[in-house]
Amino acid sequence: MVRVRDRLETPNCRDVVRCFANGCDERTRDGKPYCPEHVEHHPYVRELQAALSQQRGEIDRVERRGAGAVDPGGLTATEMLLQLRLYGDRTVERLSRDLQLPVEVVAAYARGLARQGRVSLSHTRRGHLQVALLTTEVCVSDPPASARLRKSS
Ligand SMILES: [Zn+2]
Repeated sequence: MVRVRDRLETPNCRDVVRCFANGCDERTRDGKPYCPEHVEHHPYVRELQAALSQQRGEIDRVERRGAGAVDPGGLTATEMLLQLRLYGDRTVERLSRDLQLPVEVVAAYARGLARQGRVSLSHTRRGHLQVALLTTEVCVSDPPASARLRKSS
């Protein structure tokens, strides 16, 4: 997930004391380039807004055209794969709640990712569509094998 706060709090220009926005003479805190009123001028915020509107556009396409419109490298697919990696197999209904997307959209993403070989689909005994991660990528929080070896010796 994108840590907006962390990125915004990172002072990368400590000597800035006045807001960079046109016509704004507000002092900024902690060397930030923009005052709270003009934080949307921050390049990172613009980047984030662009990514979010791109994500929204993709979701709309998936909603209209189905699994074929899924971008496996897009934000929504990435979020879904992350949910599966963190919490294990999930039903489409559960992913729908967690990702705050309509069930049909999540089902289309699940089918799109299944076509890409990223997930497998099955049905629960109650008939819900269940999604399971297929990739064998190592979780980033796992210590490298060398660290485990050192610890045990
Ligand atoms: Zn300002």
